Amino acid sequence: MRVLLIGSGGREHALAWKLAQSAQLTHLFVAPGNGGTAGIAENVAIDPADHGAVVAFAKANAIDFVIVGPDAPVVAGLGDDVRAAGMACFCPSKAAGQLEGSKGFTKALCDEMGIPTAAYRRFDAAEPALAYVRAHGAPIVVKADGLALGKGVTVAMQIEEAERAIAGCFAGQFGASGASVVIEDFLEGEEASFFVLCDGENILPLATAQDHKRAFDGDMGPNTGGMGAYSPAPVMTPDLVQRTLDEIIVPTVRGMAARGTPYCGVLFAGLMLTDAGPKLIEYNARFGDPETQVLMPRLKSDLLDLLYWTATGQLAGKSVEWADEAALTVVVAAKGYPGEVKRGEPIGALPADTSDLIVFHAGTRREGETLLSNGGRVLNVTGLGGSVAAAKERADAAIAQIGWMGGFNRHDIGWRAILRERNARLDS
Ligand code: AMP
Repeated sequence: MRVLLIGSGGREHALAWKLAQSAQLTHLFVAPGNGGTAGIAENVAIDPADHGAVVAFAKANAIDFVIVGPDAPVVAGLGDDVRAAGMACFCPSKAAGQLEGSKGFTKALCDEMGIPTAAYRRFDAAEPALAYVRAHGAPIVVKADGLALGKGVTVAMQIEEAERAIAGCFAGQFGASGASVVIEDFLEGEEASFFVLCDGENILPLATAQDHKRAFDGDMGPNTGGMGAYSPAPVMTPDLVQRTLDEIIVPTVRGMAARGTPYCGVLFAGLMLTDAGPKLIEYNARFGDPETQVLMPRLKSDLLDLLYWTATGQLAGKSVEWADEAALTVVVAAKGYPGEVKRGEPIGALPADTSDLIVFHAGTRREGETLLSNGGRVLNVTGLGGSVAAAKERADAAIAQIGWMGGFNRHDIGWRAILRERNARLDS
């Protein structure tokens, strides 16, 4: 099968790495790809926002299957355009992608289907939104309705913060994404991520993970796209996984099908595990980054099969196999991230991949033999081990071998799981 994978992040390197192991694969293109995908696939310089160019390339190169990685082309409806040209595509429709593209859309579906989530109100103007938060009090959460590069959510511990966030949205800080605002109750608990594949009707649960959004150790500093992740997340017990399926995922898939916009793709639920059970914080309509970098090394089944079955309505009766090991990835980011960073810095030699270590690239590019930094998040150093602690040790040891002085990373990825593992040992 000739495959075109869309995207250029660590997620796409991890997907490409796993796709490359498939017996079904004959040729893999990545558009635009990065320095890591260049080593295992053929990078092609196409802008994923240019749907016409993607479709023209796919037709000219006899592509059988297009796989879309990032959120922006999902929400922009690239999947619809590829399918309209007669090719199979792993990407929800534009209508179904609203689960990620509009927080108000998802909240309305939760209301309709009785899905547990934070109580909320949606506003299209600043004054009523301000009046609502003043009447409600803090803590309170203000969310731009649309995609905002992960920056559209403000968890306001003080009313003034919520007021500033509302003013920012309606002043155009996030463009059209902030023209509508969701304001919701603050939820307390531990967060976890849960991934399923869905072919419009059938659901195949994949795995759990937990990520770390803040830039610095101790969950301090600004929010980022994610500084590290691990899988599985021990906090997601089998009972919580089942409740999440029954109370959140199944009603979502039923609701989308009943509306005539079935969900077909990977559904990534961001959950808050509250005292009252799992509640939906948000949906993403694509794989997570950096969660994919810990899911793929644990996946034993053929990824290409799974994604193709999902895209073509063939998930009924299918199963998926995972390694028992834990995986943990640490993001090495360019200094300054999530703000302005320098690009084009030579990174130097990287530790070789082994059975328990893989270095996935994110913002890198190759210039001849030289590997250069090319973005905020640059490398995802992923370890595997018999426990989250062992996987972390493996990743940390590999990071110590990287000589690049322009980067930084967190040192406490996985701390919640490692604490749990330690307590379990003490209890036994
Ligand atoms: P989102 O983009 O909706 O996932 O939100 C980004 C982050 O904001 C989440 O990962 C949570 O840490 C936090 N967050 C979002 N909604 C809430 C909420 N209702 N209560 C507490 N924290 C929240």
